[in-house]
Amino acid sequence: MSALADVARDRPRHKILVVEDESDIRELLRYNLTQEGFAVEEAADGAEAIDRIARRAPDLLVLDLMLPRMPGLELCRRLRSQSDTARLPIIILTAKGAEVDRVLGLEMGADDYIVKPFSPREVVARVKALLRRANAVAEQTLPAIFERGRLKIDFGTYEVFVDGEKKELALREFELLRFFVQHPLRVYSREQLLDLVWGRDTFVEPRTIDVHVRRLRQQIERDDSNPELILTVRSVGYRFNPDALG
Ligand code: CA
Repeated sequence: MSALADVARDRPRHKILVVEDESDIRELLRYNLTQEGFAVEEAADGAEAIDRIARRAPDLLVLDLMLPRMPGLELCRRLRSQSDTARLPIIILTAKGAEVDRVLGLEMGADDYIVKPFSPREVVARVKALLRRANAVAEQTLPAIFERGRLKIDFGTYEVFVDGEKKELALREFELLRFFVQHPLRVYSREQLLDLVWGRDTFVEPRTIDVHVRRLRQQIERDDSNPELILTVRSVGYRFNPDALG
């Protein structure tokens, strides 16, 4: 089994949340985005959208502005004001001629807009373009090499060194370590780690995480029976503690 084949097979599909009260339009978007390989979730109003996002953040939101109860603009503003969703890519759907909506939507932080009536092909193209942009920005913010104290990680070559000694990590352990290093101090549950490291469409027991954490500790901790880098937070999950690196 090659590591690359493993990555390709388990690569999570991008999840798109479509927020629109008209079921015909939701259906049209779902059909076309699913055809392109996206995983699509739907919400019929702002409250349902907030609920879904809180449970599992999508990779991109397609948001109609004309929604019952909470207008799309209000939802957009709320998402932007919360740190978890401040950078969630958002494409708004606006009615033809409603230029003021478009302007307000972009001011509220939407990344792009599509005017109704739209062609499904246009939506798919915009979604892909925005995801590419979002991913490019995310990658730019990552340094190619992490080095602190005795730990050095080369994200480009997938090499890990502890005290100058090269460690052979399995791909999963490497990905887990990369995630911890990029998200220090915060506590993650097993379910969150599965979502964020394994990808949302894999079906693995949350306890699988424990096995990988154990293997990772054997490679990078001074004493894996008394870990100081990857800490267990009882009945919650795990936390990476870079301060132990000095
Ligand atoms: Ca609508």
